[in-house]
Amino acid sequence: KRKFFVAGNWKMNGSTSFNEDLINFFNQAEIRDQNVEIGVAVPSVYLSNIVNNLRKDWFVAAQNCFKNEKGAYTGEISCHMLKDIGVNWSIIGHSERRIIFNESDELVGEKCEYLLSQGMKVILCVGELRSERESGETKQVCLRQLKAATEKLKDWSNLVIAYEPVWAIGTGKVATPEEAQEVHKVIREWLRTSVSATVAESMSIVYGGSVKAENCVDLGKMEDIDGFLVGGACKYM
Ligand code: 13P
Repeated sequence: KRKFFVAGNWKMNGSTSFNEDLINFFNQAEIRDQNVEIGVAVPSVYLSNIVNNLRKDWFVAAQNCFKNEKGAYTGEISCHMLKDIGVNWSIIGHSERRIIFNESDELVGEKCEYLLSQGMKVILCVGELRSERESGETKQVCLRQLKAATEKLKDWSNLVIAYEPVWAIGTGKVATPEEAQEVHKVIREWLRTSVSATVAESMSIVYGGSVKAENCVDLGKMEDIDGFLVGGACKYM
């Protein structure tokens, strides 16, 4: 069975003092199941501090990263800078980046491919809008985003796919275990037929969107749900 994978996405939340309390809490937490990979995706200004203070068995991720090594890209950070401070993970293609900052499938694909080519680990987010679900386009949208992001990919080993239906993010309207499983299965089947059986079997496909203590157990029991990307419930608020 694939290793369970759980990451907290802090989004644009936190402060020096708040983070200190949260990190102390995390550092004291007893993790009973050792077969879980756990991490936090924090605002870039706090990355260094959190890398230095968070327990070493957890990973630290950026929430976004640009597709070039360096240059005139005001406001952006590169994966070389991330690696320089000890950060090997980044979320790419979160729906808030796609919707609020107009990131296209193409840009998300370029970022994903560049980061992976540089040895970074990537949590790639895909997911449909409510209107797309209502018009029966869920599968097509998720696979379109996935294909665009992985078109030129050769090595899939450092990729985690997060299915995050936009209608479930920050709304309290979590997908039912069956709704999420259906999409996770579609993604895994696509990997099996379009990439390889090995990639399909080993890929962690995690769910995000209003995950909390009360609903995660049932979601986590589903065959193709390998973990979570958690926003509000990861306790930054
Ligand atoms: P919520 O858990 O707050 O719905 O956010 C999910 C998310 O966007 C994680 O990336």
